[in-house]
Amino acid sequence: MSEEAGIVILGAGQAGGEVASELRKLGYTGRVTMIGDEPHLPYRRPPLSKAYFAGTVSAEELYVIPATSLVKAGIEFIGGVRVTHIDREHKQVSLDDGRSIAYHKLVIATGGRARPLTLEGANRPNVFLLRTIDDIERIRALAKPGARMVIIGGGFIGLETAAVALKLGLQVTVLEGLPRVLARVTIPEVSTFFERAHRDAGVDLRTGAQVAALEGDELVTHVHLTDGSRIEADIVVAGIGLIANTELAESAGLVVDNGVLVDEYACTSDPDIVAAGDCTNHPSEYLGRRIRLESVPNAIEQGKVAANSLMGNKIPYRSVPWFWSDQYDLKLQVVGICSGFDEFVVRGNLNEPSCRSFAVFYFKDGHLLSVDAVNRPQEFMLSKKLVAERARLNPAALADDSVPFKTLVTTAKA
Ligand code: FAD
Ligand code: NAP
Repeated sequence: MSEEAGIVILGAGQAGGEVASELRKLGYTGRVTMIGDEPHLPYRRPPLSKAYFAGTVSAEELYVIPATSLVKAGIEFIGGVRVTHIDREHKQVSLDDGRSIAYHKLVIATGGRARPLTLEGANRPNVFLLRTIDDIERIRALAKPGARMVIIGGGFIGLETAAVALKLGLQVTVLEGLPRVLARVTIPEVSTFFERAHRDAGVDLRTGAQVAALEGDELVTHVHLTDGSRIEADIVVAGIGLIANTELAESAGLVVDNGVLVDEYACTSDPDIVAAGDCTNHPSEYLGRRIRLESVPNAIEQGKVAANSLMGNKIPYRSVPWFWSDQYDLKLQVVGICSGFDEFVVRGNLNEPSCRSFAVFYFKDGHLLSVDAVNRPQEFMLSKKLVAERARLNPAALADDSVPFKTLVTTAKA
């Protein structure tokens, strides 16, 4: 293996790991060095608020590339070290342990960090953000049966964490500042469905809840809301969004605008630097505009595109965004982004209290824009293609849940 400057990957997360392994799959034999500020090998974060919090998978099972495969592939991993500077002129990066590493090509895969709570008391030792394996380790140490967990934020992190905490025997309160949960990603009808599911399970879920202060001396003991209510707390977990890690790219003079700006080939404004994952802002053919996505499919697919660009293969990144979330027995799968829809059709009895399975189809100008499916794997799988094709479906037939979805697909028009 060459000792010359090779490909250096900043950020050892889902996207960084994907680029490294894809480079080897594509036959790159040069030096690959991946640098991450976490001590862990690149790992999958989705189980953190699901199976890993529940204690049913180990940290090793989260790794994107097992340690032995990493060694076999000759990928160098520098963990627990932060990159502090990119020197584009001399093509090298500086690390916070004093080292400098030269690169031939650079990959920026720095992801994002959990948005911190700005409230007084947020630095107490029983207040947590949730982004890393180490965060979950700290949370699990206090998450004993009977403990009172107050979760701030009714997004994916908040709701998934609530479902697991309840299963672990904790008393759970979720506080969402907006009038409904999952407000950014779905319609009020689907938010109401998830709110009911959590309340039925035993979560004290409060929407429009503004946190005024975290009270307590050494530890937070109460969460104080602006309406005057005080909620007892042994553990506070905040899931209030993500801040993209773009500072390194920005200080290196790369173009940054809600993410490191890349083209459809994951190339930045510097021909020697590509970027992938949560930290990028890329053109989406599906949306007809730029977007910064925070999802595993995006990190994986854009990571592959970035690796190909480094190898001189120009393969455009053209995937339709998709997401999933597991809460209790409910698997939500989303394909596309519903914002801008002008009509929607529901399959299933979404408003019935016993409903555990339904799908919502969103249309714009008669064409399928996106789908939210709960416990409807077939509708989700078939819809991936239909959304990509912006298919037309018969709304009346679609709304009739007794008509098999497969038969509707065969009559769909592009
Ligand atoms: P990251 O995974 O954030 O990796 C970036 C890495 O770079 C981090 O380790 C970071 O610390 C490191 N880094 C940053 N700056 C530096 C620096 N200067 N020097 C060295 N290292 C640096 N997505 C889904 O699609 N489905 C899910 O169900 C889902 N569940 C999730 C559950 C949780 C609890 C969380 C936190 C996220 C979840 N996501 C889910 C989102 C998904 O994990 C992210 O979209 C994905 O991890 C993005 O990958 P990435 O490589 O871009 O960023
Ligand atoms: P998120 O999806 O942005 O949701 C955060 C929620 O918290 C928003 O509804 C937000 O409302 C609310 N909020 C913000 N500040 C608040 C406050 N002070 N009090 C009460 N509510 C407040 O972010 P997240 O759930 O923290 O997730 C973080 C990252 O992990 C994202 O990248 C997400 O995609 C990823 N993730 C994904 C999955 C999945 O895909 N299944 C699962 C877990 C995590 P406002 O709109 O008012 O800010």
